[in-house]
Amino acid sequence: MLEPINFDVQLQYQCPGCNAGHWLTKEEAKAAGFKIVCDVCGTIHQIRTVDNTKLLVNFFKTKVKVTATATVTNIVDDAYTILKKYGYKQADIATAQQSIRATSAKQLVKKFLAIR
Ligand SMILES: [Zn+2]
Repeated sequence: MLEPINFDVQLQYQCPGCNAGHWLTKEEAKAAGFKIVCDVCGTIHQIRTVDNTKLLVNFFKTKVKVTATATVTNIVDDAYTILKKYGYKQADIATAQQSIRATSAKQLVKKFLAIR
């Protein structure tokens, strides 16, 4: 995903005589003594210069898709799928997992049955 590497800012000044808009780059707007010659009414205006400009960019928060990896819940659920046919309760398996701390359902099943 690309992010912007640069930006361009322009400032608009308005001729008080004829209301025509005059766009200056930020470098022009920073230049001391910069003058605009209104191309509509011909009036010459000295601009009020800017010290600096700052652009705040807020990116949309992109949702990171979390894939189902070996979370504790998945391990217990998967182990329960195997063990429920033997009459074990999911709560018993979840309690055992708290001390066993298995990293896979297969490991949990093996260690769960070993302590029975
Ligand atoms: Zn003008």
